[in-house]
Amino acid sequence: MAQLSLDGMPRRLFSCTPTRLAAFEDCPRRYRMTYVDRPAPPKGPPWAHASLGVSVHNALHRWWDEPEPRRTPERAAELVRACWVREGWRDAEQSAAVRERAAAMCARYAAGLDPAAAPRAVERQVATRTEVLALHGRVDRLDERAGELVVVDYKTGRRPPEDGDARTSVALALYAFAAERMLRQRCRRVELHHLPSGRVVTAEHTDESLARHVRRAESVAVDAVAAAEGLAAGQPADVAFPPRPGPLCSWCDLRRHCPEGRAAGPELAPWAGVEYLAEASGEAAAPPPAS
Ligand code: SF4
Repeated sequence: MAQLSLDGMPRRLFSCTPTRLAAFEDCPRRYRMTYVDRPAPPKGPPWAHASLGVSVHNALHRWWDEPEPRRTPERAAELVRACWVREGWRDAEQSAAVRERAAAMCARYAAGLDPAAAPRAVERQVATRTEVLALHGRVDRLDERAGELVVVDYKTGRRPPEDGDARTSVALALYAFAAERMLRQRCRRVELHHLPSGRVVTAEHTDESLARHVRRAESVAVDAVAAAEGLAAGQPADVAFPPRPGPLCSWCDLRRHCPEGRAAGPELAPWAGVEYLAEASGEAAAPPPAS
């Protein structure tokens, strides 16, 4: 990999996904346990809301692989059932209840799609480099409209996105930046498609807004490298990578290794993020992190 200078010294590019950069920004300790510590500490049990997200993403991927006449709402529902991930649920009854709600949700979403307007790509790996980053990631869907690429990101969490969420998302901006460079086609529009509510929020990036997001990503990468170097030089782990306790600690896969995180929020059942979907009369859980 190319060697570049951050501070006068030759360095390797920082290889990362937007998820990795976000992990460092959210909580340096969680980042350390995920990306630096080897062997990595064991994570908690799988989450039902993650299973829901994977099931829906896989079903929509396969929907676009179908021949055009089979791209129907009914087929979308069938594919959710075929792709259903059975981990993290309270029991088979809850899994089946949410599966059927997810099938109906995807059928509604597919009904609003034009089966003839196949995307440029689905689940597409994109990659590019900057002076600091070797960036890569997977785009849920890459549309081509009026000669330009559009980044589409599916959301299945409880909370619908707000108006500014597409504009402020570093991940979406980095995907657009990487897709434009890699495919040599303009890509400025980014969209969040929230399936439970049907809400779509969009943003149109400019050269400057993309450059701003890239600069911010590079700055996070520089901080992550400096923290890893501090640790390697003998700094205490909690100084190099301090915990950042907050509301997300209840949803953290690594909280069992983190006293501050356990004190910051209650332990949640693995299905807490989908209880609102499981039973109309069920008790609503706190919203899980955006997914
Ligand atoms: S529980 Fe909270 S503070 Fe601890 S590692 Fe996870 S996110 Fe960070």
